[in-house]
Amino acid sequence: MKAVCWFGKHDVRVENVPDPQILNSRDAIIKITTTAICGSDLHLYNGYIPTMEAGDILGHEFMGEVVETGAGVTNLKKGDRVVVPFTISCGACFFCERALWSLCDNSNPKPEMLETLEGYSGSALFGYSHMYGGFAGGQAEYVRVPFADVGPLKIPDGLEDEQVLFLSDIFPTGYMAAENCNIQQGDSVAVWGAGPVGQFAVKSAFLLGAEKVFVIDHIPERLELAERENPNVITINFDTEEVYEKLRDLTGGRGPDSCIDAVGLEAHGTSPDAILDRVKAAVYLATDRPHALRQAIFCCRKGGTVSVPGVYGGFLDKFNFGAAFGKGLTFKMGQTHMHKYMPPLLEAIQEGKIDPTFVISHRLNLDEAPDAYKNFNEDKNTWRKVVLKP
Ligand SMILES: [Zn+2]
Ligand SMILES: [Zn+2]
Repeated sequence: MKAVCWFGKHDVRVENVPDPQILNSRDAIIKITTTAICGSDLHLYNGYIPTMEAGDILGHEFMGEVVETGAGVTNLKKGDRVVVPFTISCGACFFCERALWSLCDNSNPKPEMLETLEGYSGSALFGYSHMYGGFAGGQAEYVRVPFADVGPLKIPDGLEDEQVLFLSDIFPTGYMAAENCNIQQGDSVAVWGAGPVGQFAVKSAFLLGAEKVFVIDHIPERLELAERENPNVITINFDTEEVYEKLRDLTGGRGPDSCIDAVGLEAHGTSPDAILDRVKAAVYLATDRPHALRQAIFCCRKGGTVSVPGVYGGFLDKFNFGAAFGKGLTFKMGQTHMHKYMPPLLEAIQEGKIDPTFVISHRLNLDEAPDAYKNFNEDKNTWRKVVLKP
């Protein structure tokens, strides 16, 4: 089959590789009908995530048709259309039983590195390095899905692939980020990053009852998209406006009730701490560039919540923990508990409360993936969300 394979920093190729096989009774093989490139795939492309190996198949946002199931998968049958969550969960461990799906204890067969770095390993992920399990991703013609009796969500007839594809990651991720803010009627929420996750966080914050939602970025096209999609959103361009002052003015001098960092480890910024981050990351003194997170902590109102859906992978330098302590902030973060959010968000799509297709900027063939990675990485103005068809 054809698959998008990683060979090193800035080196992604479409290769012919062996078809996946059923290895365990709870596996299913899915024929991919639509897949996507995620902003977090660019972290792999840029070499920020360790334990990638030459030839690894990329992709954690995908859907398709069941073509084969192991003996233990009784809830799916050949021909079913499914969306697959990017996190892999067993459904039976301490964490899965408590709906902490992304913290599954059983799905990562190679937990040693994360145990060394973090104490314990969370769940495995598709197509996201060997420290997250080394599972082949779904930017391919076929994929093996472990624990297929637990993860894949069946899609009813009448819904197009593009309407439901983002249930695989970015829609639940943006939604959980907003839900983690425990939004009360009349609340204000500030979202750093108007990429796809940020866009879903903005919509979700309004769905959950926020009165004012602010979105902070420096890419005009992304801020304009947020404005087009959300008539009441207030956009702040950090290249031309002072974020703290503006947020203060807009919240009666108090600061937003909640702040969402939907940027993660490759944050851009022009303040001195951001420039220092870039230099340090370039010489490997720090792994992450947490400028957006620092600003979110600084801007949040006293007693507020900072919610972090943006991916962080290592150690943060110059982390303003004193500000967080001094203001009594609450932090909520982590990989999305996908399995909890997929069914209700599918319902929201069916009821017409949201149409996730608004984030798509490019529709391409799987063969065009190498150029898509390159162009997406270099041009965030026009490239936002790439959908690929095998
Ligand atoms: Zn993703
Ligand atoms: Zn589990």
